Amino acid sequence: AVTDKATLTAEGMTMRFGGLTAVDNVSLTMAPGEIVGLIGPNGSGKTTLLNMLSGVLVPSEGAFALGDQPLNGLPTYKISDLGIARTFQNIRLFPALSVRQNVLVAALSTAGGKDAEDRADAALQRLGIADHAGDDAGTLSYGDQRRVEIARALACQPKVLFLDEPAAGMNREETDALMDTLRGLTRDLGIGILLVDHDLGLINRLCHRILVLNEGHLIAEGTPEAIRKNPAVIEAYLGQ
Ligand code: ADP
Repeated sequence: AVTDKATLTAEGMTMRFGGLTAVDNVSLTMAPGEIVGLIGPNGSGKTTLLNMLSGVLVPSEGAFALGDQPLNGLPTYKISDLGIARTFQNIRLFPALSVRQNVLVAALSTAGGKDAEDRADAALQRLGIADHAGDDAGTLSYGDQRRVEIARALACQPKVLFLDEPAAGMNREETDALMDTLRGLTRDLGIGILLVDHDLGLINRLCHRILVLNEGHLIAEGTPEAIRKNPAVIEAYLGQ
């Protein structure tokens, strides 16, 4: 079968830390434009899985690819160049650099820096923070700083975007606005989004599909409605 260039596939992803298997034989597929939620109790392996799929950790076992391009064993910058960008749970901006400089640094780090300024400006526009381009990043509201983080990832022109708690610390209004922005990225640009968040309300409203991890295992996968009714998921969360 011909795989779309932007389809992420992962087979049998496993990560062992000494005697602990943090992620055990997890397989997944993400289609272009799809918003997939990754949930599970604390310590269930969400961050470890994201770290493997972005090249931060080398898996003990398993293989992953974007379209027919294998990504195993590649360093993070290479994986980012090939189309996977991410944001982190904690904000990692340079507070004393301008918003535009922050985004430009990221743009320069991919595609050999080609068209970096255009990519940076397009990302600022997309995230609705172009008006703040000249402000020091550290002076922005928390919600706007989170938007700068996403703009930095977007400036790398990803096919797939991993977001780790993108709405943490945002109020309801900011969260709703961010959801609209994210839907726009998938709809207009065909970007696939893999989202980790503890806010199940946000996950349910935003995601087309949800993956549930528990103790390193993928215990369920389905639509928000199906996941809400899944006995194994309910038990995993109650047992927390
Ligand atoms: P989550 O993101 O779902 O909270 P993590 O992926 O952070 O879960 O952690 C999964 C398990 O792996 C936990 O038991 C955690 O303690 C363990 N773990 C994560 N990173 C490391 C590491 N670098 N070394 C040893 N154990 C780790």
